[in-house]
Amino acid sequence: MVLAGEDASDRQSLRVLLEASCPEMRGRTVEINDPVRLRLATGRRLAERVAALARMARARALRENAELACVFIHEDDAVGDSASYPETQGRVQAALGAVFNSAHYVLTVTEAEAWLLLFPEAITAFSPSWTVPAARRNRDTGRFQDPKKIMKNEVASAAQRYRESMTPDIFRKAAELGLLEAPLGSNSSWHRFRESISECCAEHLPGRGRRRP
Ligand SMILES: [Zn+2]
Repeated sequence: MVLAGEDASDRQSLRVLLEASCPEMRGRTVEINDPVRLRLATGRRLAERVAALARMARARALRENAELACVFIHEDDAVGDSASYPETQGRVQAALGAVFNSAHYVLTVTEAEAWLLLFPEAITAFSPSWTVPAARRNRDTGRFQDPKKIMKNEVASAAQRYRESMTPDIFRKAAELGLLEAPLGSNSSWHRFRESISECCAEHLPGRGRRRP
């Protein structure tokens, strides 16, 4: 299993969320450190970037003496434009499908913080001085204009500021508290991601039953 994303914090969050829901991935997951930039690429440029990613993923698997079972690739859809999301998701997923046996493109609307805001209880458990205000609870967090700013200005306190590097630990807290199955509110990219994990865990890992002929 290979993970790729925009930065170390994104990849770590991805790993926490994957391993919490699919323990079979533990100890079998490696990361590619090069930042992923597929979201805005089209045509030949997209194909070239996907090919480069595939070379890195295969080289990484070879180095681990492992079979490349599947890849998870994460990017933030910074625009947060629900109109362009399906097109972007579909275009990149198709480009990945042309090169990898199995791959999951995880496009977050709009940032990882939009997913964090689905777990107010975990946020407060992580930092007791932090509270998600009522107006930000139980909403479609994919519609928040600037979730990072919400975390910084509305949730975090003067006693402890929010930093992006904290994201994996907050997700870890949500996993420990058993909240990943019960997000408060909705977010279409979160639900899609959860479906990808289930599919991957059931069908793409070696030693698991494959439904394909
Ligand atoms: Zn998979």
